[in-house]
Amino acid sequence: MITRFAPSPTGPLHLGHAYSAILAHDMAHAAGGTFLLRIEDIDRARARPAWETAIFDDLTWLGLTWPQPVMRQSGRLPAYRAALQALWDRGLLYPCTCTRRDILEAASAPQEGAPPQGPDGVIYPGTCRARAHTSPLPDTALRLDLARALATLPPLAFTETGPARPGTHRPDRDAMLHGIGDPVLARRDFGTSYHLAVVVDDAAQGVTHVTRGADLFEATPIHVLLQALLGLPTPVYHHHRLIRDAAGQRLAKRDDARAIALYRAEGATPDQVRRMVGLCAPSARRGADAG
Ligand code: GLU
Ligand code: ZN
Repeated sequence: MITRFAPSPTGPLHLGHAYSAILAHDMAHAAGGTFLLRIEDIDRARARPAWETAIFDDLTWLGLTWPQPVMRQSGRLPAYRAALQALWDRGLLYPCTCTRRDILEAASAPQEGAPPQGPDGVIYPGTCRARAHTSPLPDTALRLDLARALATLPPLAFTETGPARPGTHRPDRDAMLHGIGDPVLARRDFGTSYHLAVVVDDAAQGVTHVTRGADLFEATPIHVLLQALLGLPTPVYHHHRLIRDAAGQRLAKRDDARAIALYRAEGATPDQVRRMVGLCAPSARRGADAG
């Protein structure tokens, strides 16, 4: 078993990250497997070396270990470009020049209220899909032609072991077309997108079990689709509960009040942090591992 924790170095780690990282680490260790750390820093404008250092510090303090060197997405652009090229050569991508505002306006039918939302926000209305493009793979934003991509594949399936929706999931073609739309696979400023990078990297690292927050469950069909298109294995998915604050709000990265560093500064122990997120202490875990 290979699991991973894949934070973006754009802010402090909070209790929700601690839960996600410890869960992935403990799952791998319980199975005699490997826990990996991956730095998801494709957003060069927001990623900061200081946040990356803080991630290493916090996770080390929590008692987690991982093999070196750590994979950084900023060093992986050639791999993403190769995947885009393969999809482009099969006619599955098209350039998109729409701004957020263009998409909102095109998607908003008069009198029908707010336009439908998918995992990436407003569902793309397909404005640029039919535009002629014959050039080599351009440096623009690129979207996947979802209908065309689905038509090349047998039905999709993945295994989920998380507590909310365990079992085999078979993403439905029509539900994907209407509930997701054509996803962005390359942003003009990044040369890739979250969806493409995470799929290419999970495969490159041999990740067998993707553990991550339940907020990413709706994005999983996109990832399973990309794996099928690129000939990559589909890992097992484990979407875990989200850690909420006392008022039931999800913890955001910017909510410094819940930063692990703050609890550390106030003198909390790693065991206390484990208990705060509902996990048992490592002493109990070590006993379990030994037995
Ligand atoms: N980098 C993503 C995040 O910070 C995690 C992506 C994933 O686990 O698939 O939310
Ligand atoms: Zn467009």
